[in-house]
Amino acid sequence: MIVTADALLLVDLQQDFMPGGALAVPGGDQVVPVANAKMKAAKHVVATRDWHPPGHGSFASAHPGLSIGDTFQLSGLDQVAWPDHCVQGTAGAEFCAGLDRSRIDKIVDKGTDPKVDSYSAFFDNGGQNPTGLDAHLKAIGARSLEVIGLATDYCVLFTVLDARRLGYAVRVDLAGCRGVELNPGDAERAVEQMRRAAATVVQ
Ligand SMILES: [Zn+2]
Repeated sequence: MIVTADALLLVDLQQDFMPGGALAVPGGDQVVPVANAKMKAAKHVVATRDWHPPGHGSFASAHPGLSIGDTFQLSGLDQVAWPDHCVQGTAGAEFCAGLDRSRIDKIVDKGTDPKVDSYSAFFDNGGQNPTGLDAHLKAIGARSLEVIGLATDYCVLFTVLDARRLGYAVRVDLAGCRGVELNPGDAERAVEQMRRAAATVVQ
């Protein structure tokens, strides 16, 4: 059981994932006050951004004939076709309104390669290219992480699984997470996977 994690990791708290955004996560705005409160007590705060170039390969719009929510192969990997979201430099890619940015020590961008998506904050979906997060955490001596953010069933899930694989102790507070739930139950199944990976998940 982690009492205070060495670092707080905020996953993709960006405008496009807020209600009304391009890829709205239901209740996504409710995690902002949770994040602000946790940042006050955190030793280190790292915030990730989904940070796609225009026309990113994960966008349905980049593939004639695909609809949002379809599954297809992108560079040999299963990929969900998403609406255009979190395009670098756009308002939708900015940190969400109300988030206290003054407490963020480090920003890690992911999803910058047009040919592969990146749900995990550590690696792209092919597990090939590191984002620099692991190197940063090692540099600051962090061994334990608290992870919150969006969305439970995608970027939080894969970030937590990679963190466990890399040997970090991980605590996830569901008060600071919300799921996309493309399929009902996805968030609950994600929590089961995190627990199986020996992450501590609290309500
Ligand atoms: Zn994305």
